[in-house]
Amino acid sequence: MISADPDRKPGHACGVFGVYAPGQHVANLTYLGLYALQHRGQESAGIAVSDGSTITVSKDMGLVAQVFDERRLAPLQGHLSIGHVRYSTTGSSSWRNAQPIYRSVGDAGFALAHNGNLTNTVELAQQLGMLPGMPGITDQRDEIDSTTDSALVAEIIAAEYESELRSDGRDLVHALERVLPRLAGGFSFVLMDEAHLVGVRDPHGFWPLVLGRLPDGGWVLASESAALDIVEAHFVREVEPGEMIVIDATGLHGGIRFAEADPKLCLFEFVYFARPDTNLYGHSVHAARQRMGEALARQAPVHADMVMPVPESGIPAAQGYARASGVPYGDGLVKNRYVGRTFIQPSQKQRGQGVRVKLNPLVENIRGKRLVVVDDSIVRGTTTRQVVQMLREAGAVEVHFRVSSPPYKWPCSYGMDTGSRSELLAADMSVGEIRDFLGVDSLAYLELDRLTVATGASPDSFCTACLSGIYPVPVPFADSKHALEDLPAGASSTTSA
Ligand code: 5GP
Ligand code: MG
Repeated sequence: MISADPDRKPGHACGVFGVYAPGQHVANLTYLGLYALQHRGQESAGIAVSDGSTITVSKDMGLVAQVFDERRLAPLQGHLSIGHVRYSTTGSSSWRNAQPIYRSVGDAGFALAHNGNLTNTVELAQQLGMLPGMPGITDQRDEIDSTTDSALVAEIIAAEYESELRSDGRDLVHALERVLPRLAGGFSFVLMDEAHLVGVRDPHGFWPLVLGRLPDGGWVLASESAALDIVEAHFVREVEPGEMIVIDATGLHGGIRFAEADPKLCLFEFVYFARPDTNLYGHSVHAARQRMGEALARQAPVHADMVMPVPESGIPAAQGYARASGVPYGDGLVKNRYVGRTFIQPSQKQRGQGVRVKLNPLVENIRGKRLVVVDDSIVRGTTTRQVVQMLREAGAVEVHFRVSSPPYKWPCSYGMDTGSRSELLAADMSVGEIRDFLGVDSLAYLELDRLTVATGASPDSFCTACLSGIYPVPVPFADSKHALEDLPAGASSTTSA
Protein backbone atom coordinates (compact mmCIF):
# COMPACT_ATOMS: atom_id res chain seq x y z
CA MET A 1 0.00 0.00 0.00
CA ILE A 2 1.33 3.41 -0.88
CA SER A 3 0.42 6.09 1.56
CA ALA A 4 1.37 9.59 2.48
CA ASP A 5 4.32 9.89 4.82
CA PRO A 6 2.72 9.26 8.22
CA ASP A 7 5.16 11.48 10.08
CA ARG A 8 4.90 14.29 7.58
CA LYS A 9 5.80 17.51 9.32
CA PRO A 10 4.43 20.94 9.09
CA GLY A 11 6.21 21.85 5.94
CA HIS A 12 7.83 24.73 4.29
CA ALA A 13 6.07 26.32 1.41
CA CYS A 14 8.47 26.45 -1.46
CA GLY A 15 11.68 27.43 -3.17
CA VAL A 16 12.01 29.82 -6.11
CA PHE A 17 14.66 30.41 -8.74
CA GLY A 18 15.09 32.69 -11.77
CA VAL A 19 17.71 33.30 -14.49
CA TYR A 20 18.31 35.93 -17.14
CA ALA A 21 21.20 34.91 -19.37
CA PRO A 22 21.19 35.79 -23.08
CA GLY A 23 22.75 33.08 -25.21
CA GLN A 24 22.23 30.29 -22.68
CA HIS A 25 19.73 27.45 -22.42
CA VAL A 26 18.54 28.75 -19.06
CA ALA A 27 15.97 26.00 -18.42
CA ASN A 28 18.94 23.74 -17.65
CA LEU A 29 20.26 26.28 -15.14
CA THR A 30 16.81 26.55 -13.55
CA TYR A 31 16.68 22.77 -13.32
CA LEU A 32 19.99 22.77 -11.44
CA GLY A 33 18.85 25.61 -9.19
CA LEU A 34 15.63 23.81 -8.31
CA TYR A 35 17.61 20.64 -7.69
CA ALA A 36 19.64 22.57 -5.10
CA LEU A 37 16.40 23.87 -3.54
CA GLN A 38 14.66 20.50 -3.43
CA HIS A 39 14.65 20.50 0.40
CA ARG A 40 12.26 23.48 0.30
CA GLY A 41 9.53 21.55 -1.48
CA GLN A 42 9.06 18.00 -2.70
CA GLU A 43 5.49 17.98 -3.92
CA SER A 44 5.77 19.60 -7.33
CA ALA A 45 8.34 21.25 -9.58
CA GLY A 46 7.94 23.64 -12.48
CA ILE A 47 9.88 25.77 -14.94
CA ALA A 48 8.71 28.65 -17.14
CA VAL A 49 10.95 29.89 -19.94
CA SER A 50 10.80 32.70 -22.49
CA ASP A 51 12.69 33.06 -25.77
CA GLY A 52 11.80 36.73 -25.93
CA SER A 53 8.40 36.27 -27.53
CA THR A 54 6.77 33.17 -26.07
CA ILE A 55 6.52 31.81 -22.53
CA THR A 56 6.38 28.05 -22.10
CA VAL A 57 5.55 26.42 -18.75
CA SER A 58 6.32 22.85 -17.79
CA LYS A 59 5.33 21.56 -14.35
CA ASP A 60 4.21 18.42 -12.61
CA MET A 61 3.85 16.61 -9.34
CA GLY A 62 7.01 15.05 -7.96
CA LEU A 63 10.66 15.75 -7.27
CA VAL A 64 12.68 17.90 -9.67
CA ALA A 65 14.49 14.88 -11.10
CA GLN A 66 11.21 12.98 -11.52
CA VAL A 67 9.48 15.85 -13.31
CA PHE A 68 12.33 16.89 -15.63
CA ASP A 69 14.69 14.94 -17.81
CA GLU A 70 16.65 15.91 -20.92
CA ARG A 71 13.70 15.23 -23.19
CA ARG A 72 11.47 17.51 -21.18
CA LEU A 73 14.07 20.27 -20.80
CA ALA A 74 15.27 20.36 -24.42
CA PRO A 75 12.21 22.10 -25.86
CA LEU A 76 12.27 24.75 -23.12
CA GLN A 77 14.26 27.15 -25.28
CA GLY A 78 15.01 30.67 -24.15
CA HIS A 79 17.25 33.00 -22.18
CA LEU A 80 14.82 33.95 -19.40
CA SER A 81 13.37 31.48 -16.93
CA ILE A 82 11.81 31.02 -13.51
CA GLY A 83 11.26 27.88 -11.46
CA HIS A 84 9.49 26.65 -8.36
CA VAL A 85 9.46 23.69 -5.99
CA ARG A 86 6.44 23.32 -3.77
CA TYR A 87 5.88 21.70 -0.43
CA SER A 88 2.58 19.98 0.07
CA THR A 89 -0.02 21.67 2.17
CA THR A 90 -2.70 19.60 3.79
CA GLY A 91 -5.50 18.54 1.51
CA SER A 92 -4.37 20.54 -1.48
CA SER A 93 -1.88 18.25 -3.11
CA SER A 94 -2.82 18.50 -6.74
CA TRP A 95 -1.48 19.49 -10.13
CA ARG A 96 -3.60 22.63 -10.06
CA ASN A 97 -1.39 23.94 -7.27
CA ALA A 98 1.92 23.42 -9.01
CA GLN A 99 3.82 26.56 -9.98
CA PRO A 100 4.91 28.68 -11.84
CA ILE A 101 1.43 30.02 -12.46
CA TYR A 102 0.95 31.36 -16.00
CA ARG A 103 -1.57 34.08 -16.81
CA SER A 104 -2.20 35.50 -20.26
CA VAL A 105 -3.11 39.15 -20.73
CA GLY A 106 -4.15 40.04 -24.26
CA ASP A 107 -1.38 38.83 -26.55
CA ALA A 108 1.11 38.91 -23.70
CA GLY A 109 1.46 36.93 -20.53
CA PHE A 110 3.44 36.47 -17.37
CA ALA A 111 4.44 33.70 -14.98
CA LEU A 112 4.77 33.83 -11.21
CA ALA A 113 6.43 31.67 -8.56
CA HIS A 114 5.69 32.33 -4.90
CA ASN A 115 7.37 31.37 -1.64
CA GLY A 116 5.23 32.45 1.26
CA ASN A 117 1.67 32.99 2.33
CA LEU A 118 -0.42 36.15 2.26
CA THR A 119 -2.43 37.17 5.30
CA ASN A 120 -4.99 39.36 3.53
CA THR A 121 -6.21 36.92 0.91
CA VAL A 122 -9.89 37.26 1.73
CA GLU A 123 -9.70 41.05 1.58
CA LEU A 124 -7.88 40.95 -1.76
CA ALA A 125 -10.37 38.51 -3.23
CA GLN A 126 -13.22 40.72 -2.06
CA GLN A 127 -11.62 43.77 -3.67
CA LEU A 128 -11.51 41.88 -6.93
CA GLY A 129 -15.12 40.83 -6.51
CA MET A 130 -13.94 37.26 -6.71
CA LEU A 131 -15.85 35.84 -3.78
CA PRO A 132 -17.56 33.52 -3.91
CA GLY A 133 -16.91 31.35 -6.92
CA MET A 134 -13.18 31.64 -7.31
CA PRO A 135 -11.59 28.21 -7.64
CA GLY A 136 -10.47 27.17 -4.19
CA ILE A 137 -12.68 29.69 -2.48
CA THR A 138 -16.09 28.27 -1.86
CA ASP A 139 -17.39 30.89 0.47
CA GLN A 140 -16.26 34.09 2.07
CA ARG A 141 -15.72 32.51 5.47
CA ASP A 142 -14.34 29.32 4.04
CA GLU A 143 -10.76 28.33 3.72
CA ILE A 144 -8.47 29.64 1.05
CA ASP A 145 -5.66 27.26 0.37
CA SER A 146 -2.16 28.55 0.38
CA THR A 147 -1.64 28.21 -3.35
CA THR A 148 -4.88 29.91 -4.19
CA ASP A 149 -3.29 33.03 -2.75
CA SER A 150 -0.61 32.83 -5.44
CA ALA A 151 -3.28 32.41 -8.13
CA LEU A 152 -5.09 35.37 -6.63
CA VAL A 153 -1.95 37.52 -6.89
CA ALA A 154 -1.72 36.55 -10.56
CA GLU A 155 -5.35 37.64 -11.02
CA ILE A 156 -4.73 40.97 -9.33
CA ILE A 157 -1.63 41.62 -11.39
CA ALA A 158 -3.52 40.78 -14.59
CA ALA A 159 -6.34 43.13 -13.56
CA GLU A 160 -3.78 45.92 -13.15
CA TYR A 161 -2.47 45.56 -16.68
CA GLU A 162 -3.88 48.55 -18.52
CA SER A 163 -6.44 47.82 -21.19
CA GLU A 164 -3.92 48.72 -23.88
CA LEU A 165 -0.59 46.99 -23.45
CA ARG A 166 2.16 49.58 -23.15
CA SER A 167 4.55 50.34 -25.94
CA ASP A 168 7.54 50.07 -23.58
CA GLY A 169 6.60 46.46 -22.78
CA ARG A 170 6.91 47.07 -19.04
CA ASP A 171 3.29 46.23 -18.20
CA LEU A 172 4.25 43.62 -15.61
CA VAL A 173 6.55 45.99 -13.73
CA HIS A 174 3.98 48.80 -13.72
CA ALA A 175 1.23 46.44 -12.58
CA LEU A 176 3.48 45.19 -9.76
CA GLU A 177 4.18 48.73 -8.61
CA ARG A 178 0.45 49.10 -7.98
CA VAL A 179 -0.19 45.61 -6.61
CA LEU A 180 2.72 44.99 -4.23
CA PRO A 181 1.80 47.68 -1.66
CA ARG A 182 -1.60 46.00 -1.27
CA LEU A 183 -0.22 42.59 -0.31
CA ALA A 184 0.27 41.59 3.33
CA GLY A 185 2.11 38.62 4.77
CA GLY A 186 4.97 36.59 3.40
CA PHE A 187 6.08 36.72 -0.21
CA SER A 188 9.28 36.14 -2.04
CA PHE A 189 8.29 36.17 -5.71
CA VAL A 190 10.10 35.55 -8.91
CA LEU A 191 8.11 36.61 -11.95
CA MET A 192 8.66 36.96 -15.65
CA ASP A 193 6.99 38.18 -18.77
CA GLU A 194 8.39 37.61 -22.25
CA ALA A 195 11.32 39.98 -21.68
CA HIS A 196 11.74 40.76 -17.95
CA LEU A 197 12.82 38.82 -14.90
CA VAL A 198 11.50 40.26 -11.63
CA GLY A 199 12.37 39.50 -7.99
CA VAL A 200 10.30 40.76 -5.07
CA ARG A 201 10.55 40.38 -1.31
CA ASP A 202 7.85 41.40 1.18
CA PRO A 203 8.59 44.35 3.50
CA HIS A 204 9.61 41.99 6.33
CA GLY A 205 11.63 39.67 4.13
CA PHE A 206 10.10 36.68 5.91
CA TRP A 207 11.58 34.33 3.29
CA PRO A 208 15.04 34.62 1.82
CA LEU A 209 15.78 35.70 -1.76
CA VAL A 210 19.24 36.41 -3.12
CA LEU A 211 20.72 37.90 -6.25
CA GLY A 212 23.68 36.31 -8.02
CA ARG A 213 25.75 36.90 -11.15
CA LEU A 214 26.78 34.31 -13.70
CA PRO A 215 30.40 34.32 -14.91
CA ASP A 216 29.33 35.56 -18.37
CA GLY A 217 27.24 38.38 -16.92
CA GLY A 218 23.77 36.84 -16.63
CA TRP A 219 21.68 37.27 -13.46
CA VAL A 220 20.21 34.75 -11.05
CA LEU A 221 17.57 34.99 -8.31
CA ALA A 222 17.30 32.16 -5.76
CA SER A 223 15.71 31.37 -2.43
CA GLU A 224 19.09 30.40 -1.02
CA SER A 225 22.68 31.25 -1.78
CA ALA A 226 23.51 27.52 -1.99
CA ALA A 227 21.49 27.41 -5.23
CA LEU A 228 23.80 30.03 -6.75
CA ASP A 229 26.79 27.78 -6.21
CA ILE A 230 25.40 24.97 -8.33
CA VAL A 231 25.07 27.23 -11.40
CA GLU A 232 28.45 28.85 -10.65
CA ALA A 233 26.91 32.23 -9.99
CA HIS A 234 28.55 34.39 -7.36
CA PHE A 235 26.54 35.97 -4.58
CA VAL A 236 25.88 39.66 -5.19
CA ARG A 237 23.46 40.57 -2.39
CA GLU A 238 20.11 39.74 -0.81
CA VAL A 239 17.00 41.22 -2.35
CA GLU A 240 16.04 43.78 0.31
CA PRO A 241 12.75 43.51 2.18
CA GLY A 242 10.27 45.78 0.37
CA GLU A 243 12.37 45.83 -2.80
CA MET A 244 11.64 44.89 -6.40
CA ILE A 245 14.49 44.07 -8.81
CA VAL A 246 13.91 44.05 -12.56
CA ILE A 247 16.32 42.49 -15.04
CA ASP A 248 15.95 42.95 -18.80
CA ALA A 249 17.94 43.66 -21.96
CA THR A 250 18.99 47.03 -20.53
CA GLY A 251 20.52 45.46 -17.42
CA LEU A 252 19.64 45.23 -13.74
CA HIS A 253 17.31 47.77 -12.15
CA GLY A 254 17.40 47.30 -8.39
CA GLY A 255 16.25 49.34 -5.45
CA ILE A 256 12.68 49.76 -6.68
CA ARG A 257 10.98 50.15 -3.30
CA PHE A 258 7.30 49.48 -2.72
CA ALA A 259 7.42 49.59 1.09
CA GLU A 260 9.73 50.50 3.91
CA ALA A 261 11.87 47.60 5.09
CA ASP A 262 11.34 46.06 8.53
CA PRO A 263 13.45 42.89 8.33
CA LYS A 264 11.93 39.86 10.05
CA LEU A 265 13.51 36.83 8.43
CA CYS A 266 12.03 33.51 9.55
CA LEU A 267 14.26 32.36 12.42
CA PHE A 268 13.43 28.77 11.54
CA GLU A 269 15.42 29.22 8.33
CA PHE A 270 18.51 29.29 10.56
CA VAL A 271 17.25 26.44 12.75
CA TYR A 272 16.04 23.96 10.17
CA PHE A 273 14.84 25.03 6.72
CA ALA A 274 17.85 26.47 4.96
CA ARG A 275 20.66 24.29 3.70
CA PRO A 276 23.71 24.40 5.98
CA ASP A 277 25.82 25.63 3.04
CA THR A 278 23.57 28.68 2.63
CA ASN A 279 24.40 32.09 4.06
CA LEU A 280 21.65 34.20 5.63
CA TYR A 281 22.23 37.83 6.66
CA GLY A 282 25.84 37.16 5.69
CA HIS A 283 26.26 34.34 8.22
CA SER A 284 26.93 30.69 7.49
CA VAL A 285 23.92 28.59 8.50
CA HIS A 286 26.16 25.65 9.34
CA ALA A 287 28.37 27.71 11.64
CA ALA A 288 25.30 29.25 13.27
CA ARG A 289 23.87 25.79 13.97
CA GLN A 290 27.15 24.74 15.58
CA ARG A 291 27.02 27.85 17.79
CA MET A 292 23.46 26.91 18.76
CA GLY A 293 24.81 23.55 19.93
CA GLU A 294 27.59 25.25 21.89
CA ALA A 295 25.09 27.57 23.55
CA LEU A 296 22.91 24.58 24.38
CA ALA A 297 25.84 22.81 26.05
CA ARG A 298 26.48 25.87 28.21
CA GLN A 299 22.78 26.29 29.03
CA ALA A 300 21.99 22.63 29.71
CA PRO A 301 25.10 20.54 30.51
CA VAL A 302 24.86 16.90 31.50
CA HIS A 303 27.25 14.09 32.46
CA ALA A 304 27.27 11.64 29.57
CA ASP A 305 29.43 9.29 27.52
CA MET A 306 28.54 10.41 24.01
CA VAL A 307 26.90 13.29 22.15
CA MET A 308 25.01 12.15 19.06
CA PRO A 309 22.81 13.92 16.51
CA VAL A 310 19.46 12.94 15.08
CA PRO A 311 20.68 13.00 11.47
CA GLU A 312 20.83 14.98 9.37
CA SER A 313 19.35 18.16 10.68
CA GLY A 314 20.79 17.71 14.20
CA ILE A 315 24.41 17.19 13.10
CA PRO A 316 25.91 20.69 13.29
CA ALA A 317 24.28 21.44 16.66
CA ALA A 318 25.49 18.11 18.05
CA GLN A 319 29.01 18.95 16.86
CA GLY A 320 28.76 22.27 18.68
CA TYR A 321 27.41 20.63 21.82
CA ALA A 322 30.28 18.13 21.86
CA ARG A 323 32.87 20.83 21.24
CA ALA A 324 31.63 23.04 24.07
CA SER A 325 30.95 20.24 26.58
CA GLY A 326 34.00 18.08 25.97
CA VAL A 327 31.76 14.99 25.79
CA PRO A 328 32.89 12.88 22.80
CA TYR A 329 30.87 13.09 19.59
CA GLY A 330 29.65 9.85 18.03
CA ASP A 331 27.11 8.41 15.64
CA GLY A 332 24.16 6.50 17.03
CA LEU A 333 21.76 6.55 14.11
CA VAL A 334 22.21 5.94 10.40
CA LYS A 335 19.94 7.69 7.97
CA ASN A 336 18.82 6.14 4.71
CA ARG A 337 19.92 8.68 2.13
CA TYR A 338 17.28 7.82 -0.38
CA VAL A 339 14.10 8.24 1.61
CA GLY A 340 11.71 10.71 0.03
CA ARG A 341 8.37 11.97 1.11
CA THR A 342 6.26 8.99 0.18
CA PHE A 343 7.03 5.38 0.79
CA ILE A 344 5.52 1.95 0.80
CA GLN A 345 4.24 0.81 4.17
CA PRO A 346 5.24 -2.83 4.67
CA SER A 347 2.46 -3.48 7.15
CA GLN A 348 0.04 -1.84 9.50
CA LYS A 349 2.15 -2.94 12.47
CA GLN A 350 5.18 -1.10 11.15
CA ARG A 351 3.31 2.12 10.64
CA GLY A 352 4.03 3.19 14.20
CA GLN A 353 7.66 2.38 13.50
CA GLY A 354 7.70 4.57 10.38
CA VAL A 355 10.88 6.23 11.56
CA ARG A 356 12.84 2.99 11.06
CA VAL A 357 12.50 3.43 7.34
CA LYS A 358 14.57 6.58 7.73
CA LEU A 359 16.76 5.95 10.77
CA ASN A 360 18.34 2.82 12.16
CA PRO A 361 20.40 2.59 15.36
CA LEU A 362 24.08 1.66 15.53
CA VAL A 363 23.62 -0.73 18.44
CA GLU A 364 27.32 -1.22 19.24
CA ASN A 365 27.81 2.56 19.59
CA ILE A 366 24.80 2.98 21.86
CA ARG A 367 24.70 -0.04 24.16
CA GLY A 368 25.51 0.74 27.77
CA LYS A 369 26.00 4.47 27.14
CA ARG A 370 24.61 7.64 28.64
CA LEU A 371 23.62 9.63 25.56
CA VAL A 372 23.11 13.29 24.84
CA VAL A 373 20.88 13.30 21.76
CA VAL A 374 20.75 16.59 19.87
CA ASP A 375 18.17 17.68 17.30
CA ASP A 376 17.24 21.05 15.83
CA SER A 377 13.55 21.00 16.71
CA ILE A 378 10.59 18.99 17.91
CA VAL A 379 7.38 19.78 16.07
CA ARG A 380 4.79 17.07 16.58
CA GLY A 381 7.01 14.77 18.61
CA THR A 382 6.14 11.61 16.69
CA THR A 383 9.60 11.12 15.22
CA THR A 384 11.41 12.08 18.38
CA ARG A 385 9.41 9.67 20.52
CA GLN A 386 10.20 6.77 18.19
CA VAL A 387 13.88 7.74 18.05
CA VAL A 388 14.08 7.66 21.85
CA GLN A 389 12.36 4.29 21.99
CA MET A 390 14.77 2.90 19.39
CA LEU A 391 17.78 4.13 21.36
CA ARG A 392 16.44 2.54 24.56
CA GLU A 393 15.86 -0.76 22.75
CA ALA A 394 19.42 -0.56 21.46
CA GLY A 395 20.64 -0.47 25.06
CA ALA A 396 21.16 3.21 25.92
CA VAL A 397 21.24 3.54 29.71
CA GLU A 398 20.34 7.24 29.76
CA VAL A 399 18.88 9.50 27.07
CA HIS A 400 19.26 13.25 27.57
CA PHE A 401 17.49 15.09 24.76
CA ARG A 402 18.71 18.54 23.74
CA VAL A 403 16.91 20.71 21.18
CA SER A 404 18.69 23.64 19.52
CA SER A 405 15.54 25.81 19.38
CA PRO A 406 12.76 26.75 21.83
CA PRO A 407 9.46 24.84 22.04
CA TYR A 408 7.55 25.17 18.76
CA LYS A 409 4.15 26.42 19.92
CA TRP A 410 2.54 28.68 17.36
CA PRO A 411 1.35 28.14 13.81
CA CYS A 412 3.06 30.13 11.07
CA SER A 413 0.83 32.39 8.98
CA TYR A 414 3.45 33.56 6.53
CA GLY A 415 4.29 30.48 4.55
CA MET A 416 5.17 27.49 6.66
CA ASP A 417 2.34 25.00 6.66
CA THR A 418 2.10 24.39 10.38
CA GLY A 419 -1.30 22.82 10.55
CA SER A 420 -3.35 23.69 13.58
CA ARG A 421 -2.07 24.41 17.04
CA SER A 422 -3.37 21.09 18.25
CA GLU A 423 -0.76 19.32 16.07
CA LEU A 424 2.13 21.06 17.82
CA LEU A 425 3.45 19.05 20.73
CA ALA A 426 4.56 22.04 22.78
CA ALA A 427 1.36 24.05 22.23
CA ASP A 428 -0.09 23.04 25.55
CA MET A 429 2.44 20.78 27.21
CA SER A 430 5.09 21.89 29.67
CA VAL A 431 8.72 20.84 29.15
CA GLY A 432 8.27 18.33 32.00
CA GLU A 433 5.22 16.84 30.32
CA ILE A 434 7.07 16.61 27.01
CA ARG A 435 10.00 14.92 28.77
CA ASP A 436 7.61 12.26 30.11
CA PHE A 437 5.83 11.90 26.76
CA LEU A 438 9.15 11.31 24.99
CA GLY A 439 10.40 9.00 27.72
CA VAL A 440 13.74 10.75 28.19
CA ASP A 441 15.80 11.20 31.36
CA SER A 442 16.14 14.92 30.76
CA LEU A 443 15.04 17.44 28.16
CA ALA A 444 16.19 20.98 27.40
CA TYR A 445 15.35 23.46 24.66
CA LEU A 446 17.70 26.30 23.69
CA GLU A 447 16.40 29.63 25.00
CA LEU A 448 15.20 32.12 22.38
CA ASP A 449 17.76 34.86 23.13
CA ARG A 450 20.63 32.38 23.05
CA LEU A 451 19.33 31.14 19.70
CA THR A 452 19.13 34.57 18.11
CA VAL A 453 22.60 35.46 19.40
CA ALA A 454 23.94 32.23 17.91
CA THR A 455 22.79 33.26 14.41
CA GLY A 456 25.30 36.11 14.47
CA ALA A 457 22.66 38.49 13.08
CA SER A 458 20.79 41.24 14.88
CA PRO A 459 18.32 39.59 17.31
CA ASP A 460 15.45 41.87 16.31
CA SER A 461 15.78 41.12 12.62
CA PHE A 462 13.81 37.87 12.95
CA CYS A 463 10.25 36.64 12.93
CA THR A 464 9.96 34.36 15.96
CA ALA A 465 6.18 33.86 15.79
CA CYS A 466 6.27 30.05 15.92
CA LEU A 467 8.40 30.17 19.07
CA SER A 468 7.20 33.35 20.78
CA GLY A 469 3.63 33.92 19.57
CA ILE A 470 4.64 37.44 18.50
CA TYR A 471 3.39 37.93 14.94
CA PRO A 472 5.04 40.85 13.05
CA VAL A 473 2.04 41.14 10.70
CA PRO A 474 -1.42 40.92 12.25
CA VAL A 475 -2.87 37.51 11.63
CA PRO A 476 -6.52 37.15 10.68
CA PHE A 477 -6.99 33.99 12.68
CA ALA A 478 -10.70 33.82 11.93
CA ASP A 479 -10.02 33.80 8.21
CA SER A 480 -6.85 31.81 8.18
CA LYS A 481 -6.68 28.33 6.80
CA HIS A 482 -6.32 26.73 10.18
CA ALA A 483 -8.63 28.90 12.22
CA LEU A 484 -7.37 29.07 15.76
CA GLU A 485 -10.40 28.22 17.76
CA ASP A 486 -8.01 27.64 20.65
CA LEU A 487 -5.98 30.84 20.52
CA PRO A 488 -4.75 31.15 24.11
CA ALA A 489 -3.74 34.15 26.13
CA GLY A 490 -0.16 35.07 25.45
CA ALA A 491 -0.48 35.16 21.68
CA SER A 492 -0.23 38.61 20.30
CA SER A 493 -0.23 40.39 17.03
CA THR A 494 1.89 43.48 16.75
CA THR A 495 1.87 45.77 13.81
CA SER A 496 5.23 47.08 12.89
CA ALA A 497 4.89 50.74 12.18
P1 5GP B 1 8.92 15.28 15.48
O1 5GP B 1 9.49 14.62 16.70
O2 5GP B 1 8.36 16.61 15.74
O3 5GP B 1 7.96 14.36 14.77
O4 5GP B 1 10.13 15.44 14.44
C1 5GP B 1 11.26 16.19 14.78
C2 5GP B 1 12.13 16.28 13.54
O5 5GP B 1 11.42 17.01 12.54
C3 5GP B 1 13.44 17.00 13.73
O6 5GP B 1 14.47 16.12 13.35
C4 5GP B 1 13.39 18.18 12.78
O7 5GP B 1 14.62 18.34 12.11
C5 5GP B 1 12.32 17.81 11.82
N1 5GP B 1 11.57 18.96 11.28
C6 5GP B 1 11.37 20.19 11.79
N2 5GP B 1 10.63 20.95 10.97
C7 5GP B 1 10.36 20.19 9.90
C8 5GP B 1 9.66 20.42 8.67
O8 5GP B 1 9.12 21.49 8.43
N3 5GP B 1 9.62 19.38 7.79
C9 5GP B 1 10.20 18.17 8.04
N4 5GP B 1 10.11 17.19 7.13
N5 5GP B 1 10.87 17.92 9.18
C10 5GP B 1 10.95 18.92 10.09
MG1 MG C 1 15.50 16.39 11.56
